[in-house]
Amino acid sequence: RDIELKGMKDLKHMKNILPVRKEESHKGTYGRVGVVAGSTGMTGAAYFSSKASLRSGSGLVYTMTPKSLSNILSLKLTEAIIKPVEDNGKGHFILDSIQDIEEGIKDLDVIALGPGIGVDYERIRIVEEIFNIFDKPMVLDADGLNCVSEKPEILIKREGETVITPHPGELSRLLKVSIGEIQRNRIEYCKKASQKYNVTTVLKGADTVVCSKSGEIYVNRTGNPGMATAGSGDLLTGVISSFIGQEIGVYESAILGTYIHGLAGDLAKNEKGEYGLIAEDILENIPYAIDLIY
Ligand code: AMP
Ligand code: MG
Repeated sequence: RDIELKGMKDLKHMKNILPVRKEESHKGTYGRVGVVAGSTGMTGAAYFSSKASLRSGSGLVYTMTPKSLSNILSLKLTEAIIKPVEDNGKGHFILDSIQDIEEGIKDLDVIALGPGIGVDYERIRIVEEIFNIFDKPMVLDADGLNCVSEKPEILIKREGETVITPHPGELSRLLKVSIGEIQRNRIEYCKKASQKYNVTTVLKGADTVVCSKSGEIYVNRTGNPGMATAGSGDLLTGVISSFIGQEIGVYESAILGTYIHGLAGDLAKNEKGEYGLIAEDILENIPYAIDLIY
């Protein structure tokens, strides 16, 4: 297979955003990324976000997951530092999880919050507490966003940079607008989210739209329908978090991350076709996608 890759006109721009790795460097140079993710049945969400950060150049990734799941995740995520977090004994975060999370995130440069955590009263409170104690950049995705949809004022109040990465369903919950209405006006609703919450918004799906806090728009052309598969979005969360941890600006990290994630999907499609693509195939191609623009 040798299918022509999409999005090549933006390749130079992406190259300018991606820093050169320095000779004189060590793992601390490339950022400490925290991933707060996972619950019973959703260990893959923690795995994919963490592994995508490692594959995007992060020096150190700390995965905070409910302690009932931490042994199994340790086997799967050999390069990450697994931080077991107090849970309800069944693999779900509870209010008491906050002490371990606070301890785990205090020295980090960025955290990815939300993939596979589930939504209930206690988890909404945990998201709120994390907003209160962590004022460095954060990528908020999936159930982290769904928690915010139940209590939107906590995100409006948050100090510190936030990137949100909703798919249309998640943005529909967050803005209380139908999915159809969002899909007919993707740029408009992406801007609306950025404005209302003072965040960088990545509205996912074909032609992912990225909007900065100030309303700057980027429409991504990489990616393909093979990427409509479980775990795909968790990878994007990890890639964007990784770039932020490497001191790339949040908006630039969001557009570069979206571009690389889509390009990895396009490379995976060249190998296997788009029908049977799974998240692991996209993950494996992240290094090659980065290398194409490096
Ligand atoms: P999620 O729904 O959170 O798993 O995220 C899915 C990821 O795959 C997002 O980054 C989407 O942009 C991407 N994706 C899903 N469907 C398509 C598609 N038809 N074309 C391009 N990218 C897609
Ligand atoms: Mg998702």
